[in-house]
Amino acid sequence: MNNQDMANRDLAVLWHPCTQMKDHEHLPMIPIKAGQGVWLEDFDGNRYLDAISSWWVNLFGHANSAIIAALKDQLDTLEHVIFAGFTHESGIRLAEKLVEISPVGLTRCFYADNGSAAVEVALKMSFHYWRNQGQTQKTKFMTLENSYHGETLGALAVGNVALYKETYAPLLMEVITVPGPDCYHCEPGESWADYSTRRFALMDAALQQHADSVCAVIIEPLVQCAGSMRMYDAVYLSLLREACDKYGVHLIADEIAVGFGRTGTLFACEQAGISPDFMCLSKGLTGGYLPLSAVLTTDRVYQAFYDDYTKLSAFLHSHSYTGNALACRAGLATINIFQQQAVIETNRSLAVALTNAAARFHGHPHVAEVRQTGMIVAIELVKNKQTREPYPWQERRGLKVYTYGLSQGVLLRPLGNVIYFMPPYIITEAELELLAEVAWQGIQYAVSN
Ligand SMILES: *Cc1c(COP(=O)(O)O)cnc(C)c1O
Repeated sequence: MNNQDMANRDLAVLWHPCTQMKDHEHLPMIPIKAGQGVWLEDFDGNRYLDAISSWWVNLFGHANSAIIAALKDQLDTLEHVIFAGFTHESGIRLAEKLVEISPVGLTRCFYADNGSAAVEVALKMSFHYWRNQGQTQKTKFMTLENSYHGETLGALAVGNVALYKETYAPLLMEVITVPGPDCYHCEPGESWADYSTRRFALMDAALQQHADSVCAVIIEPLVQCAGSMRMYDAVYLSLLREACDKYGVHLIADEIAVGFGRTGTLFACEQAGISPDFMCLSKGLTGGYLPLSAVLTTDRVYQAFYDDYTKLSAFLHSHSYTGNALACRAGLATINIFQQQAVIETNRSLAVALTNAAARFHGHPHVAEVRQTGMIVAIELVKNKQTREPYPWQERRGLKVYTYGLSQGVLLRPLGNVIYFMPPYIITEAELELLAEVAWQGIQYAVSN
C-alpha cells in the first residue's frame, strides 16, 4: 500500500472533520503509517514534523514508551466498565491527581469523553447549580468575542468564531457576547496588561447589567486558540474572578487547549493566581493518546446536588464511555511524566528557543505580529504590514503555507492567515530551527503566489 492507494480508499468512504472534501481533488490526503516522537511517517516513507501536536493534543511525542507501557498494562487488566455504580483504580487515581495538581478549591472531578462534552457538562452543571439554589432566573451564559469552546450545539453557542457558528445560528441558544481582551488590537506602545485591564471595563459593565440572568462566564484563559491564537494578559483573569464573585456568577475556565503546560504553567489560571468554579480539561489530558475530558469543580457546587434522591436534584448527565479506564490510564501516565521530568521547568528553555526561532519573522514585510505565550507562537500574516489590512480569506494564503510545509516535511496547519507553532514538548532546538526555516520559506511562497 502506498499513499495513493490509501488516499483513494479513504476518499471513497470517509468524511473528514473541518474539511471541504472537494479540496481533496487538488490537496493530497496524507495517510500516516506510523509516528515516532515529533515525527509522522506516511505510506511512501515521507516524514513530517508534527508542529501542531496533532491538533494540540500530543505532549510527549508519538509512540511514547511510558504511555504505551501503561496502556498495555491497563489493557491486560480492564479496558472499560460502566462508571455509574461502578468505579476502577485508574479512574480514582487520575481524579486524585487532577484534584492535587489543579488550582486550589477544585476538589471534584466529573469525566466526559471529549472537550465539547466537557463544556456541555460545565454549562449544565452551572445552570443546574443555580436552579438547585432556587435561582431559576439564571438561564444565560456570557462569553467573549472570538472565543471557541467546541462544536456540539451548546459548546458552539458559547463560542464566537463565525466560520464554525454562523450556519447553525438558528439552532443555538442565545448568549451574551462581550468584546474581548485580544491584544492584537492594543494601541502602539500599550502593554498587554494595560490593554487587558482597559478592555475589562466592558466585561464589568456587561456583568453589572446581566448578572441576575447569567449562570456563568466561560473563557479560554490567556490564549484564544481556535480564534487565531489571539492572546491577552493574566490580569484580565484576576479581574474576572473578582467580578464574578462580586456579581454572583460562575467562572468556567476552558483549559482544554491551554492546560497541561501549554502556556508555561501547568494550568493557565495559575498565572493569575485564580481558581475558577469549573475547569474543563481534555486534549493534553491523555498526552494525545485517547479521548477523555474532565470537569473539575468545587465542593460548593458538588454539595448543591447532594440530597435525597426524591428531591430530584442530581446531575443525571452521562456518556457511555465516561471514565474509560484506558483513557484514564493514559492520563495518569501523562501526569507522571510531568511530575517525574519537571516538564514545566525544562519547557522554560524550550520557550526561549521558540522565541529565538520565531525572531526572524518580526521583520517580515507581510507579518503584522509575532506573539507568544509559553509554548505557543503565532505569526499573523497580512497583506499590508502598516495598515494591517488582512489578505482576503478567499485567497487562502495560509493553505499555501500548509502545502509548502508538507512538501518540506513539516506539518503546519495555519488558522486562516495565522501560522503557529504548538509543538510537542519533546521537540529539540534543531527541530525548532527546521520548523522556523520551513515556515519562513512557506510564507515566502504564500505571499508571492
Ligand atoms: C478543542 C477545544 C474544545 C473542544 O474539544 P473537542 O475535544 O475538540 O470537542 C473546546 N474548547 C477549546 C478551548 C478547545 O481548544
